[in-house]
Amino acid sequence: MRQVTHWINGKPWSGTAQRQGDVFDPATGQVQARADFATSAEVDLAVGAASAAWPAWRDTSLARRTAILFRFRELLAARREELTGLISSEHGKVRADAAGELDRGIEVAEFACGIAHLLKGEYSENVSTRIDTYSVRQPLGVVAGITPFNFPAMVPMWMFPIAIACGNTFVLKPSEKDPGASVLLAELLAEAGLPDGVFNVVQGDKAAVDAILAHPGIAAVSFVGSTPIARHVYATAAAHGKRVQALGGAKNHMLVLPDADLDAAADAAVSAGYGSAGERCMAVSAVIAVGPAGDELVSRIGQRAQQLVVGPGTDPGAQMGPLITGAHRDRVASYLEPGRTAGGEVLLDGRGLRVAGYEGGFWLGPSLVDKVRPGTPVYDDEVFGPVLCVLRASSFEEGLEIINASPYGNGAAIFTGDGGAARRFGAEVTAGMVGVNVPIPVPMSYYSFGGWKDSLFGDLHIYGPDGVRFYTRGKVTTSRWREPADVNLAFPSSS
Ligand code: NAD
Repeated sequence: MRQVTHWINGKPWSGTAQRQGDVFDPATGQVQARADFATSAEVDLAVGAASAAWPAWRDTSLARRTAILFRFRELLAARREELTGLISSEHGKVRADAAGELDRGIEVAEFACGIAHLLKGEYSENVSTRIDTYSVRQPLGVVAGITPFNFPAMVPMWMFPIAIACGNTFVLKPSEKDPGASVLLAELLAEAGLPDGVFNVVQGDKAAVDAILAHPGIAAVSFVGSTPIARHVYATAAAHGKRVQALGGAKNHMLVLPDADLDAAADAAVSAGYGSAGERCMAVSAVIAVGPAGDELVSRIGQRAQQLVVGPGTDPGAQMGPLITGAHRDRVASYLEPGRTAGGEVLLDGRGLRVAGYEGGFWLGPSLVDKVRPGTPVYDDEVFGPVLCVLRASSFEEGLEIINASPYGNGAAIFTGDGGAARRFGAEVTAGMVGVNVPIPVPMSYYSFGGWKDSLFGDLHIYGPDGVRFYTRGKVTTSRWREPADVNLAFPSSS
């Protein structure tokens, strides 16, 4: 059976793991690989390799760093089929979706290729007589990334291209559920000419994460995952003196006003609700229909959802794949039980879905629950599956109030033909990313991505300009040359 192991100091780890975990093919339900799980000893090896590589990497010219990133970007494009196939087989998402994930990751690598411009400092001449001041941003040292299962290539690439471009060395702990892509990315970085030790991967679960959070050799931690773990990571890493950004879970709303184009809104709700089987942090999981158009909107969503083709990622006709594990599928399906929809009307129930030839897969068909109210588990919890809730509101204000009362604040979208309503929504909604007639407003790589409230712990968003700020620290130098330095005990002034 295929084995997925750590990548330390430019090569696969050659030791024997004390613990391993199963990697499934979610479409068949069969175990397709075993992943080694790191203990604190392997984490220590990876951090040691990254620490040893840091001084030379920090001093490597921007031109050389950029050249390596350009080559990496070209290799990602050249090995696209292999990467998307691997992502799809371990995660279950359909190939087109895996290709989309890869593209969004490649965009961050492209952004990082512009690092020479992004790291420019400032210079002020004559801040005092013949004294100049300049500022630079310098790398932090060894930084770590801990990533979730739902984007096994893209989310790591939200982090490491920028971290490495800024002159840091990196230790990645990917999800143990689909770890294969991380090793392929490491191989491509090595092929692109990245020196050994600059990028390392440790596979594993909580034990590996906790070893990272406490490791004195790690300066900063980027985390993306569920809210409870994000909270734990933020508190623990900060208590160990590290810089942290911890992106958490989500419940993304789509507010549909009566003047919206209902076909466009229904298309968007279905695409954003069921794409990647709802396993996206920016999935729309709650549609709020305002006013009398609600019945018509729900009917159009239902018609479209019923026509979705669910199947394995290898089937080019499939639009939606299985869920990541049997346990996760069962958890998501449990939200369709009467006690968890409490008064909501289950219009589509995906629990009966069978995919011919793939009976053992972790399937759940598109599910739709109408007339859901806040205070019921299917709405309050992050379900993270193909279960779309519709809430009814009598006005824009009531809809906005529901959204702003949610503890999550990743993305929020409004569908309307009214520019004034859209503008007010953008100004008042308590979410980090806003869509106007766009259901999944994931910013391009030259902006930054991040939520509010329980969707992000920390000050800076991820990738884009905030990524550069996160992976560097400022230094301001004040300099004087060839002037006699008189003794002067007065406080420095700018005369
Ligand atoms: P998760 O929180 O279970 O796992 C994320 C990472 O934390 C993994 O590497 C995992 O090994 C590790 N981990 C799990 N349990 C741990 C524990 N008890 N202690 C320490 N580490 C632990 O998340 P997941 O199920 O892999 O991914 C789905 C979640 O990620 C969803 O909640 C989704 O919204 C969120 N997500 C958020 C964003 C965002 O940008 N905000 C993006 C993608 C995914």
